[in-house]
Amino acid sequence: MRIVLLGAPGSGKGTQAALLVAEVDLPHISTGALLRAAVKAGTLLGKRAKTVIDRGELVSDEIMLGLIEERLAQPDVKNGFIMDGYPRNLAQAEALDELLERIGQPVVEALQIDVDLEMLIERISKRAAEEGRSDDTEEVVRKRMRVYEEQTAPVMEYYARKGLLSRVLGDGTVDEVFQRIKGVLQIRAA
Ligand code: AMP
Repeated sequence: MRIVLLGAPGSGKGTQAALLVAEVDLPHISTGALLRAAVKAGTLLGKRAKTVIDRGELVSDEIMLGLIEERLAQPDVKNGFIMDGYPRNLAQAEALDELLERIGQPVVEALQIDVDLEMLIERISKRAAEEGRSDDTEEVVRKRMRVYEEQTAPVMEYYARKGLLSRVLGDGTVDEVFQRIKGVLQIRAA
């Protein structure tokens, strides 16, 4: 099972990915978490990424592809993975397809979590208070939403055109959303 979770910042992708990996026993690949770990470790990549992340913009496609390529070369992904935070634009979606083809794991399914804007802002403010992420300030969140609308939303269309997109509503409790996701994945697997 190779799944990419799509959704706006605050849609619950990270939370749902964590629940899903526990259920299906596959690795969770979160590009945001990989980048935050590089920032924390103070690597060159982390230093380059930090300024971009703190502005709410996208880290370059080249850096991201390198990061994903390195991660997908590890043996634990041989049965699949749950990816969240990548692809973030059309170029990344195409690069991922090419990479998966090259490593003999073609085709990912995409699962979009739909949440309305008001709820996104509410959730991110809550997360800002709980986790203290440097990119959860109001101004940066607004920028990240704009980047999402302009660059990431078209990724959904990309998978829809290939017949590889499912959507779930992201409102309600974490568990309610998780049940919907499980339902959708089971239906598609049947
Ligand atoms: P996330 O935790 O997925 O919201 O990611 C946090 C930040 O990391 C984003 O706002 C971007 O600056 C950066 N980032 C994460 N994934 C990507 C990606 N696929 N492409 C470019 N930048 C990314």
